[in-house]
Amino acid sequence: MIADAALVRYGEIGLKGGNRQEFLDRLARNLRYALQPFAGATVEPLRGRFLARLPGDWSDATAALSRVFGVTSVSPARRIPAEIAAIAEAAAEAAESACAATTHATFRAKANRADKRFPQTSIEVERAVGGAVLARVPRLRVDLDSPDLVLGIEIRDEATFLYHERIAGPGGLPVGSTGRALALLSGGIDSPIAAWLAMKRGLALEALFFHSVEFTGFAATEKVKELARLLSRSSPRFALHLVPFSPVQVAIKEACEPSYRTLLYRRMMHRIAVVLARADRQAALVTGDNLGQVASQTLENLALTAAASELPLLRPLLTYDKEETIALARRIGTFEISIRPALDCCTVFQPPRPRIRGDAGDVAREEAALDLERLVADSIAGLETWVFHHGQPGRKVDRGAKVQEA
Ligand code: ATP
Ligand code: MG
Repeated sequence: MIADAALVRYGEIGLKGGNRQEFLDRLARNLRYALQPFAGATVEPLRGRFLARLPGDWSDATAALSRVFGVTSVSPARRIPAEIAAIAEAAAEAAESACAATTHATFRAKANRADKRFPQTSIEVERAVGGAVLARVPRLRVDLDSPDLVLGIEIRDEATFLYHERIAGPGGLPVGSTGRALALLSGGIDSPIAAWLAMKRGLALEALFFHSVEFTGFAATEKVKELARLLSRSSPRFALHLVPFSPVQVAIKEACEPSYRTLLYRRMMHRIAVVLARADRQAALVTGDNLGQVASQTLENLALTAAASELPLLRPLLTYDKEETIALARRIGTFEISIRPALDCCTVFQPPRPRIRGDAGDVAREEAALDLERLVADSIAGLETWVFHHGQPGRKVDRGAKVQEA
């Protein structure tokens, strides 16, 4: 079947009472954005669905639509005449070509008659389609419960559509519908998934990476840019801020107790992130923290990190098992990037035995030896911003341009 359209279904946002229209408008905007690379594509609302019209390459376009948060499924579809014999004929043809490509044994027809002026009932349409399909592909059998192939027919006021595929979407809420936040993105497995989950709940995200290029080389930064590129497939515009962190690390190494280094690094990251988030009107920070995974993630150390963070802290993976995170990372495509070898800034000057359960009094004493304000200001002065769209390589922008674009 040659598709010239896609039916886009949404779930949860259909339930949002008074905010419903706002959510739908946001979803429509995000769908249109996702289709920007496909010349001539359009998106229009139908009752309970969106219809994307795709003049050209619909396989990449449906993949792009199926990554938009808020979407539950996408079906490539073809407009067919709203007349029972023509519907049956088109469905039989689609069944034949679908069976040529795969070894389907069973099928069913599923009609949805939203246009009540159509003379036959849904059941009559299904029967006509079933008969035509069996005549055309005799080896197929009808299975109403779990068929290999579903031939969907949607008879709507605007047009009648035929489809036989349903590509799952991520669900969730449209990006931008619940607010703005700043994600702390490392090159690890966890933080990109935390960012993805935060976007899934409707947050418009930007990301922040602390690098120590003098000590670790460029590999870590390149890796994080790759992650940002990938995440930009799921969001309209994705900005990545790169902040130099080695001066902070050197200052901590010179002035503070070695076993507290990692914890002090984390607290500095959060202080810097808070300043940037406030400047960009972001109301929360997102991290990939996971309870108990590493020494810096004991309840005590998580609390000491949070205490340095003056914005609400969202930690979507806090209670995930590593296997669950990895499964998601594979599905989204970040896993292969995250496991590429690269030195992490946190390993710079790593003490042999980091403090597992930090003490607030000790932390205050250690930080008294640091000029916190100057360290924060110097880091921010070295900020560099890259912007990513549609999973394409990023473009470096200056801070002024970034603020304008936002
Ligand atoms: P990840 O897999 O995301 O690196 P992790 O389980 O390895 O997480 P840590 O390395 O302790 O845990 O980091 C905890 C969180 O702190 C990360 O998920 C991330 O949000 C943030 N973080 C750590 N290092 C950096 C960095 N260099 N730049 C920005 N954020 C960072
Ligand atoms: Mg890490």
